[in-house]
Amino acid sequence: MIDFEFTDDHKALVQTVREFARNEVGPHIKEWDEKQQFNPAILKKMAELNLLGVCIPEEYGGAGFDYISLGLVCEELEAVDTFLRVIMSVHTGLNSLTLLTWGTEEQKQKYLVPQAKGEKLATYGLTEPGAGSDVVGARSNARRDGNDWILNGEKMWISLADIADNFLFFCWTDEEKRRKRDHSGMSCFIVERSMKGFSSGTIHGKLGIRAGNTGYFSLEDVRVPQANMVGEEGEGFKIAMFALEQGRYTVAAGATGVIRASRDASVDYANTRETFGTKIANHQLVKQKIAEMEADYQMSHLLWLRAGYLKNTGQPNAKATSLAKWQATTRSEKAASMAIEVHGANGYSNDYPVERYLRNCKAAVIYEGTRDIHTLMQADWALGLKKERGARRTLPAWQK
Ligand SMILES: Cc1cc2nc3c(=O)[nH]c(=O)nc-3n(C[C@H](O)[C@H](O)[C@H](O)COP(=O)(O)OP(=O)(O)OC[C@H]3O[C@@H](n4cnc5c(N)ncnc54)[C@H](O)[C@@H]3O)c2cc1C
Repeated sequence: MIDFEFTDDHKALVQTVREFARNEVGPHIKEWDEKQQFNPAILKKMAELNLLGVCIPEEYGGAGFDYISLGLVCEELEAVDTFLRVIMSVHTGLNSLTLLTWGTEEQKQKYLVPQAKGEKLATYGLTEPGAGSDVVGARSNARRDGNDWILNGEKMWISLADIADNFLFFCWTDEEKRRKRDHSGMSCFIVERSMKGFSSGTIHGKLGIRAGNTGYFSLEDVRVPQANMVGEEGEGFKIAMFALEQGRYTVAAGATGVIRASRDASVDYANTRETFGTKIANHQLVKQKIAEMEADYQMSHLLWLRAGYLKNTGQPNAKATSLAKWQATTRSEKAASMAIEVHGANGYSNDYPVERYLRNCKAAVIYEGTRDIHTLMQADWALGLKKERGARRTLPAWQK
């Protein structure tokens, strides 16, 4: 049976997150966007509300909620600003859920528990200056030294790079396979900022998500123990793709929040602005834009909910998650752009939030698989050229 009803826990969570984002972030976001920095106290508040580990089981320091809850949190956060949702995407989606699924018990105790409690901030380092969509074009590498590994490489365009404590680092552990572009030569390691040889920096001059941190990090002969390898040697690519399946889900839900915020801002404006002796809400072409935003919101919402349902029930969801991400991000760009038009010249000014929505939502069309990559994947699935991956189940507390 399909149940479209949210539980009381879901509804309470939405209320809490909505109040937090609107009251604690909303009044400051214009200033943080201009200064290109958010107040780090926000992270403490997110931790107090248990958001950073919302879908991590209680036994690992999380709130023990489900994937739908994670999506609801992301939709609410990004309806206020994208930087908030990005924190959830990299910390909870790409990193913590990956450790929950692929990590050893020792890794979970050492890294996942403090991350879920919000005591440590985590992110995910796959992209390099010369390799984004083409993951196997990466140059980062690790070589064995006794029971340790020596890590070298440079990661670029990494969310929270300059403020996170823990990093998932993807690199080659088999040079021969790298030359053959055989991704079974890639592995994944946990790296800490405090490790000798680690350095990071911030990228300035971004189009959007200016309140958030995006940067780069380098590893120069960073020594990590075997215990920091996630999964088995050679499983790095698989782990990276698993992580993206969680991250893309958060991006889809967040982009849906942008569509909703664009619709709501447009409705408010259309009901106050008057031209030709009537509210602009009475002009049919303004109505059409609002109708399209409503349709795009509802469709995107249903798509991420379906992906969340498949995740909750441990079913394969790569295709559904990719579809939700592709469609929600594309529609968010369209909605934010239309919202600016509804606002006329005022939409072009940062006195109104809609120009920020447009600047922010563009990145989501690029990261976690560009629009082109998702378009090609969907075509390949439809043409039968690509098979749905089996789901590697997480350990949802709500199903034990
Ligand atoms: C704000 C922001 C935050 C980010 N955060 C992170 C993060 O936390 N961690 C992380 O690892 N990465 C992160 N990224 C990086 C992001 O995932 C990459 O930018 C993305 O994967 C695209 O890679 P690229 O920029 O190298 O573009 P390229 O891969 O060089 O692509 C350039 C263009 O070519 C197209 N293209 C490439 N290959 C194909 C193909 N086979 N068929 C058709 N078209 C193709 C692309 O669609 C795109 O239009 C972030 C990026 C941004 C902008």
